[in-house]
Amino acid sequence: MTEATQPFCSLIGGQWVAAASGRSFEIRNPADTRDLVGRFAACEAVDAQAAVAAAQAAFDGWRRTPISKRARILNDAAAHLEQHVERNAQELTREEGKLIALSRDEVLRAAQTLRFYAVEGQSWTGETFPQDDPAMTVSTQREPLGVVTVITPWNFPISIPARKIAPALITGNTVVFKPASIAPLSGLRLAEALHQAGLPPGVLNFITGSAAAVGPSITEAKAIRAITFTGSTAAGEHIHRSVPFTTRTQMELGGKNPLIVMDDADLDQAVDLAIKGGLSLTGQACTGTSRLLVMKSVKAEFTTKLLAHMAKLVIGNGMTTGVDIGPLASAQQLDSVLGHIAAGKAEATLLCGGERLAGPEHEHGHFVSPALFADVSSSMHIAREEVFGPVLALIEVDSYRDAIAQANDTPYGLAAAIATRNPRLMHDFANDIEAGTVKINRTTTGNLINAPFGGLKRSSTATFRESGRSGLEFFTQTKTVYRGC
Ligand code: NAP
Repeated sequence: MTEATQPFCSLIGGQWVAAASGRSFEIRNPADTRDLVGRFAACEAVDAQAAVAAAQAAFDGWRRTPISKRARILNDAAAHLEQHVERNAQELTREEGKLIALSRDEVLRAAQTLRFYAVEGQSWTGETFPQDDPAMTVSTQREPLGVVTVITPWNFPISIPARKIAPALITGNTVVFKPASIAPLSGLRLAEALHQAGLPPGVLNFITGSAAAVGPSITEAKAIRAITFTGSTAAGEHIHRSVPFTTRTQMELGGKNPLIVMDDADLDQAVDLAIKGGLSLTGQACTGTSRLLVMKSVKAEFTTKLLAHMAKLVIGNGMTTGVDIGPLASAQQLDSVLGHIAAGKAEATLLCGGERLAGPEHEHGHFVSPALFADVSSSMHIAREEVFGPVLALIEVDSYRDAIAQANDTPYGLAAAIATRNPRLMHDFANDIEAGTVKINRTTTGNLINAPFGGLKRSSTATFRESGRSGLEFFTQTKTVYRGC
């Protein structure tokens, strides 16, 4: 087992520094808690305030830096991530638990995101408007906002930060970045790549530390012009309510995502969608399938096939070949998921799984066997609360209309899928479902770098989308200029 002793530092004003208090916290591998992944600076308000001040001081220089230079830094940082993909992927698996192949994909996706915005940001521009006066031009120009706070969750600890930081930087903003305390090392590697690529001091500041210790200083300070946050709905709503009126917010929050299985569906494909969408990533995806709304006429056959597949899943350390499902990311996650399973057992029928795993391969990690609940109704806890673990709740429906009504019976609206061969239902589903991401014969999980991403209802603030070209909008403000001779 590795025992890293030197704490990783924060990056403030271009310097890698320890917390002012000298304190640090440790992160252990959720597949084997004997493995110390690292120690990290336990920043507090004083460190966070220094990061905000450094970002403020760097803003004017960065906004005036030629866009081609900003783009080159993003491309060089992408190359740095690609050169270190194996180390970064192994660290990601050791701190978060996901399968090593998925970690490699995620590191490369972060690099691809930096490259995407290096190009896309260079053609992000205003408009010119036709009008009557030949001696005047009227046009808009897009300008950076200033200091932007980036707060991210642990489940995609490098790709989510990349999709926020890259559009922020290319448009000329400076950044204070706080990763989740459960998995800070991947975020540090992203900050390191950008720093090594030549980002001027203070343009990106990276601080680790608990939400309670650093949160108010990086969300409520007047100098913060915008906050882009991904995490739980509770935390997102709290931040959204606490910030000054002049602070723009973008909140990407929780989900309770349905997969509707119609009676004409290819049931083998539908089972695959349920397993990949709901159980891979150990169910720890905001867009993960959580509710299975299955037509009564195919429920028995679908359930039999699903149980047969679930029985074959191998649960273990994400570094081990042949493993299908890794651990939950932390002891808190384990407690939370077991709590939801206990609540589910009290109201529905547990058909399989839901056990904390013991034995030599599992005893040092946070492993739970994937669970399937049947006899679930939409009013039950297990159908309403975001579990964020390998737990599926099966609800019987008797028509397409019934399925849509139940699918929409949730405060969330992040992602939703349908399995059907009927082109009419495919069309209707896209119109009827209340979700920001709509999938037809595809998993609820997964989204493109170049397409907009975000939720409806309580899954997002109803403001700005992330990803793609629309991801640039959040980080700029528009001026309309009337220019005479
Ligand atoms: P979380 O507990 O809300 O934490 C997310 C991040 O916010 C962490 O960095 C956390 O810091 C920080 N934070 C929490 N409260 C804060 C506050 N008052 N001020 C400043 N920072 C604060 O969420 P999580 O457990 O990491 O992630 C799981 C959740 O994220 C799920 O609900 C999932 O659905 C959601 N998620 C949504 C999307 C999406 O795109 N919609 C994507 C992925 C995940 P600490 O770690 O230090 O507490």
